Amino acid sequence: RFITLEGGEGVGKSTNVAFVEAWLTAQGIEVVRTREPGGTPRAEAIRELLLDPSPQEPLSVDAELLLVFAARAQHLAEKILPALARGAWVLCDRFTDATFAYQGGGRGIDPARIAQLEQFVQQGLSPDLTLLLDMPPEAAKERLEGRLRDLNTQRDRFEQEQADFFMAVRRAYLERAAAAPERFALIDAAQPLASVQTALSDVLKE
Ligand code: C5P
Repeated sequence: RFITLEGGEGVGKSTNVAFVEAWLTAQGIEVVRTREPGGTPRAEAIRELLLDPSPQEPLSVDAELLLVFAARAQHLAEKILPALARGAWVLCDRFTDATFAYQGGGRGIDPARIAQLEQFVQQGLSPDLTLLLDMPPEAAKERLEGRLRDLNTQRDRFEQEQADFFMAVRRAYLERAAAAPERFALIDAAQPLASVQTALSDVLKE
């Protein structure tokens, strides 16, 4: 089985991906937990290129899209497909729905062009289940700012984007979920963490 976890910045993806991994492992399932962009050394190197905030030369939107899919091709070949082939479950923090949300909704690339690359790289592979953590970007931003202050982390290029970018990302995610309700589970991430995790385990039980 192939499960993905999706959502915008600050929705609690990292905490909840760890929760889902622990929940599945407790059922005796072999889980390969991974993330995108990245997941293997070379794909993580492509992630570095994507997140590089170099002011001299901004990344063109098409170059960004192609790098996301280049990282995904490497990740599929080296990690995801071999794990699925031996019967492990793959739990991936972001996958192609993030491409439709960020490069499509956020950066304005025509979803039909993204779908062409999806077919080229994935050849019909798509997740069995996608857990979408959803909350309004304003509320998520407050969480994120708290976290960034606490950790004294540098904001990356993506996190400097404007509110309308994050609203477009959320809208694209919700449209993806509405178009494929059999694959998506929509989780209200604005609830207290315990309620989010109850919702997640209810979906996993099903
Ligand atoms: O999920 P994570 O927070 O690790 O993602 C790192 C950054 O990459 C995020 O800021 C996200 O906005 C960005 N990203 C992106 N396009 C994707 C996937 C992630 O812009 N397809």
